[in-house]
Amino acid sequence: LLTEDPHLRRGPRGFPLLPGGYGRSTYYIGAPSPYAVRGEGYRVWDDRGRELIDANNNFTSLIHGNAHPEITEAATKALTSGASWGIPNLHEWELAELLLSRLPQLDQVRFTNSGTEAVMSAVRIARASTGRERVIVTQGGYHGTSDLALVPGGPSYTRGVTRGVIDDVTAIPLNDVDRLRRAIETAPTEYAAIILDLLPNRAGLLRISDDFVTTARDLATRHGIVLIIDEVISLRLGLQGLSGQYGVAPDLLTTGKTIGGGFAVGAVVGLAELMAEVDPTRAGSLPHGGTFSGNPVSMAAGAAALRLYPEPEVDRLNRLGDNAREKVNAQVSQAGWEVRGRGSLLRAVPAGAQKVDEATQHRLWWASYQRGLLGSPANLLSLSTPMDGAVVDDIADRLADAVLAVADAPTS
Ligand code: PMP
Repeated sequence: LLTEDPHLRRGPRGFPLLPGGYGRSTYYIGAPSPYAVRGEGYRVWDDRGRELIDANNNFTSLIHGNAHPEITEAATKALTSGASWGIPNLHEWELAELLLSRLPQLDQVRFTNSGTEAVMSAVRIARASTGRERVIVTQGGYHGTSDLALVPGGPSYTRGVTRGVIDDVTAIPLNDVDRLRRAIETAPTEYAAIILDLLPNRAGLLRISDDFVTTARDLATRHGIVLIIDEVISLRLGLQGLSGQYGVAPDLLTTGKTIGGGFAVGAVVGLAELMAEVDPTRAGSLPHGGTFSGNPVSMAAGAAALRLYPEPEVDRLNRLGDNAREKVNAQVSQAGWEVRGRGSLLRAVPAGAQKVDEATQHRLWWASYQRGLLGSPANLLSLSTPMDGAVVDDIADRLADAVLAVADAPTS
């Protein structure tokens, strides 16, 4: 355990070492956060002496929980040969092969260090290949923190983003098929890409309709627009991600999180004619680098993680998620709350809400924490393979209890 609260540490000019006391703004939970000190399987221990069920899983990326022995072994083995090099390594090919064996309709992979970079690169590939600039997104979606990706979050997210970038992005209300069609058909030759997250967390984990997805695919095909499906979170939901479950074929698929076994990673997976844009053997190809892109530790850990996640495991976790949703919904619906999500991803929200205010999210985070359950600050919960039915039942009970406590509390 820590002997001193790091928030109290000061730099040479008297300020906390990290702005606001946080190293990632996305950690923020309204009050000083506990610190993780150890994790094992589905459990995490913090500096306040609490044992927690880890359903945060570093924002859904730890599909096999904490310190999975086979992943740790693969990463350690890679690490002991050197953390990273300035010439290519063979682990990158291994992870690329595993990914493509799951996504047989796509041809090639380019690794990045994060989902943010993957989306940023995918958009650039789309623009370069179409010679167009504008991009369609869905309102409230989250695609990382590149300038363009912040636009769907609305004005509170776009301070520091130029007017030019904002004007290049058209944000369509989720599932508004008419608006989507109108936006594209009024300027069909201006759009380079449509970016879709099929289960947008920041938009309240609302489901995107089949009609919206099919329309996006049809319009993209008809007008030469690149369809980018952002599966940074959702790849865990199916062998071919959520696009496989929707039966939609992306031109480019962006991913990250689970494919790095807990290490920094992102990837653009795409059709060969588009991926050719980053082929350095071609004259005029796009610059793409990243000192740590495709590093052997992330690649080896990611390959181990994918091997440990064959279809029966994907299905088992998804079924556990279905059971949890059913169980929690039965307890919280009379209090005006619901649990949304799909497969191994779930999130409790006030019934019908698209946007949940931050104070409510933080109240539920603390209520869950006090009951030994660790979620994300927006209360997105994800399951991991060390969990079984009994653990997930336990999660459901703790979550339902936390929701009822928040629903009962007077809002201040
Ligand atoms: N796209 C989506 C759909 C995401 O959920 C996230 C991260 N939560 C990102 C992109 C960005 O990924 P990263 O945090 O690895 O940059």
